[in-house]
Amino acid sequence: MKLTNQYLLSVLDAVEKRNPNEPEFIQAVTEVFVTLQPVIEKRPDIVKSGVIERLVEPERQIIFRVPWIDDNGNVQVNRGFRVQFNSAIGPYKGGIRLHPSVNLSIIKFLGFEQTFKNSLTTLPMGGGKGGSDFDPKGKSDAEIMKFCQSFMTELYRHIGPNLDVPAGDIGVGAREVGYMFGQYKRIQNEFTGVLTGKGLTFGGSLARTQATGYGLCYYTEEMLKANGKSLKGQTVVISGSGNVAIYACEKATELGAKVVTLSDSNGYIYDKDGIDLKLVKQIKEVERKRIAEYIKYKPSAEYHEGSKGVWTVKCDIALPCATQNELDGESAKALAKNGCWCVAEGANMPSTPEAIETYFASGMLYGPAKAANAGGVATSGLEMTQNSMRLSWTFEEVDEKLKGIMKSIFKACDDYSKEYGMPGNYMAGANIAGFMKVAEAMKAQGAV
Ligand code: NDP
Repeated sequence: MKLTNQYLLSVLDAVEKRNPNEPEFIQAVTEVFVTLQPVIEKRPDIVKSGVIERLVEPERQIIFRVPWIDDNGNVQVNRGFRVQFNSAIGPYKGGIRLHPSVNLSIIKFLGFEQTFKNSLTTLPMGGGKGGSDFDPKGKSDAEIMKFCQSFMTELYRHIGPNLDVPAGDIGVGAREVGYMFGQYKRIQNEFTGVLTGKGLTFGGSLARTQATGYGLCYYTEEMLKANGKSLKGQTVVISGSGNVAIYACEKATELGAKVVTLSDSNGYIYDKDGIDLKLVKQIKEVERKRIAEYIKYKPSAEYHEGSKGVWTVKCDIALPCATQNELDGESAKALAKNGCWCVAEGANMPSTPEAIETYFASGMLYGPAKAANAGGVATSGLEMTQNSMRLSWTFEEVDEKLKGIMKSIFKACDDYSKEYGMPGNYMAGANIAGFMKVAEAMKAQGAV
């Protein structure tokens, strides 16, 4: 699909001029615009109310200095970001990413996508995202704590349980959320649900750790079911070896698939017998080491340098769960050539536009990130609810609700893809379904 609608082309042109050097943000906006074309043609009232122009401009962008002292007594300085993208349907909500590649373009693309994703969950959450170019790799626990405290010493004044509720993302798990929460509580003198992904002893939700990976598999299973298939008996390739990858691997295996790979930014492991997840959890969650360690304990498995090689492994289903643009056109062609017939995205925007073209050209089933990985934020929404009620649901209760939400997300994608004449195009379905609710809310609230 190409962008041909003159109005959307002119808005995109303005976005490009206003945001030079932000390729990821432009990529995310372009993808959404392409799929919104039929909506714009059908709904002139939306054009007239300026929803589109407002949607692509964040409500607020905060950039700040994060100074901290390393273990050698040296002052280090990082840059912190919080982009509060859209609060039409609820308080800003979205994770914090700690990775050296973080810049404004990446935080903006994530915040933009988050707005649609949160809308799809059916819960009242607006879109936001934050992060820093801090690299957690190789840092001591004390350094991580000092960084997180300094980060929150600025961020605290911009967030709140009814204003903006951050969570984890790449490089931010329960440990980092705990340090940030502790610092927020200390500065504000208030114990409140201002972050999600918290530890279970201080307001965290059971099943939040598992939620994105499990949700991805629930969504994938729904998509497969609608097309007469299931995960049972399928060979699955997963990239990444972090939170999303590990729990996608766990649930896919439980649903009867065989997961044969995991990766990190250095390389990938291939285990023809199926990944030993107990071993992976020990290496990644307990020892915090690289995935290459796997073959020391499981010599029958293989380790290959270079993370892109993971897409050359023969499989039925690919679940990219590492990072943006990790799967390019060439990799998508390699997947298709090897018989892969389904891609569902655990990571945010892992497929380049060329890769997505290849999925459609080769008739693959494609579950886009905004829908397929929405289980994480949905469960964060459930954590907010539990915090407000001062109650904790059981693992089974949360998991059941997550399953229900993922089913309803798939249904919305399917229904909207059909309503707008693109049956089976779940990317269009997800974008339109997410957009409609936000657009109606923005229209109703006037030009703010
Ligand atoms: P983690 O930090 O737990 O893990 C990230 C994984 O991706 C690591 O294996 C990491 O390898 C790999 N990775 C990161 N950057 C690169 C890169 N440039 N090239 C190759 N591999 C890379 O993060 P999560 O699992 O939480 O997040 C993974 C993806 O899922 C992200 O896109 C995130 O935005 C998305 N997501 C996460 C949610 C959540 O609840 N956590 C919710 C929805 C989406 P290495 O250690 O070498 O860096």
